[in-house]
Amino acid sequence: MLEPKSGEKAIIETLKEKINGTILESHEQGILLIKLDSGYNIGIKKEDIVNIETIKEEENKKTKIKKPKKTLSKLPNIDIIITGGTISSRLDSKTGGVKWLTEPEDLINLYPELLEIINIRKIKIPFMKASENMDYKDWKEIAKNVQESLNEDDCKGVIVTHGTDFLHYTSSALSFFLKDLNKPVVLTYSQRSSDRASSDARMNLICSARAAVSDIAEVILVGHASVNDDFCYALLGTKTRKMHSSKRDAFKSINKKPIAKIFPDKIEKISPYNIRNNNKVKLDDSFNSKIALIKFYPGMEPEIFDYYSQNYEGIVIEASGLGHLAIDEARKNLLPKIKKAIDNGLIICLAPQTIYGRLNPMVYSPGRKLLKTGIIFLEDMLPETAYVKLGWVLGHQQWKNKIKEKMLENFSKEINKRIEE
Ligand code: ASP
Repeated sequence: MLEPKSGEKAIIETLKEKINGTILESHEQGILLIKLDSGYNIGIKKEDIVNIETIKEEENKKTKIKKPKKTLSKLPNIDIIITGGTISSRLDSKTGGVKWLTEPEDLINLYPELLEIINIRKIKIPFMKASENMDYKDWKEIAKNVQESLNEDDCKGVIVTHGTDFLHYTSSALSFFLKDLNKPVVLTYSQRSSDRASSDARMNLICSARAAVSDIAEVILVGHASVNDDFCYALLGTKTRKMHSSKRDAFKSINKKPIAKIFPDKIEKISPYNIRNNNKVKLDDSFNSKIALIKFYPGMEPEIFDYYSQNYEGIVIEASGLGHLAIDEARKNLLPKIKKAIDNGLIICLAPQTIYGRLNPMVYSPGRKLLKTGIIFLEDMLPETAYVKLGWVLGHQQWKNKIKEKMLENFSKEINKRIEE
């Protein structure tokens, strides 16, 4: 029995089962290490193996990098901005983990079908990062690249590929930073690396290409609508959030219907959106990073507010259901410290910890008391969107005396007056 090399795909048969996967380099004697399509690695004792069948190149071609087909110039020109994340990584047969593609452009070479929908005008790679390693400086960098592309007459839209974990921060940042949007800005991702047969990258990218040539002039996130490979949703950048650690349809539209269903070959509109136009896009990316996002929990120490008051200019607190924090009969009453912090100039905003639904300070008396301190209740705004918006609002010196008004102004549909299921 010929043992397969690491990186090869194989079907391994033991007395008990048949296993399909990619062979990894094993450092343990007598053990064959296999990466399953589900993403898990398993070790099998070589002595238990009765047969190994390697899958030929032909069947395994999805994992190969191809050179792009010759592009058809009559297709709409789209720019692609690659920033890192799982979608730009591939299996490392030595470790079983994933690492960046050596040439990020290879992402496109893996999916030549894209070139049947769009002509890729430029590929920009400002950096390669996992999204947890980004901050507002990266959001600015992406926004600048997007703005430049959108203002080129021969560019019809932009696709940004990105890690999933903190994608909704970037989508919110782009929604606030890019003013007078004229064309589609499509953010996409994958939960499984692009070289895996089970990767969700293929459909997400193809639907993103379809969305990028559409008439949707919004910052949208395009990804699997369900675990199936049938269609994607376009979700509004400020109203979406990663809601599952591993499923393909990890991103959900919160308190708002998706914008559209995106099929590889057509688009079905679901809710109203801004239409493609001839605006010149402006970059409005001032940002004050002295902000924090924290979560209220029962038993929270009031002294926490002294710390934030001394070191930050604004905070968003994820508050309970309707917007409550421990006050009055609580053993640790937060009210005095909150009042003190606000008097000293700290901006305190509340966003719903429940994610779904809207804050309402008027239902119970503690809510009214909190409202009187000057705390800003952010209605149904997502905490992450609120965090990005607070940094953006505080970044504008001219709004210094209008922070509450600006936090409650609907700049990018971040507040939905009527919650949609
Ligand atoms: N940690 C990665 C990131 O957010 C995960 C992913 O891309 O899905 O960049």
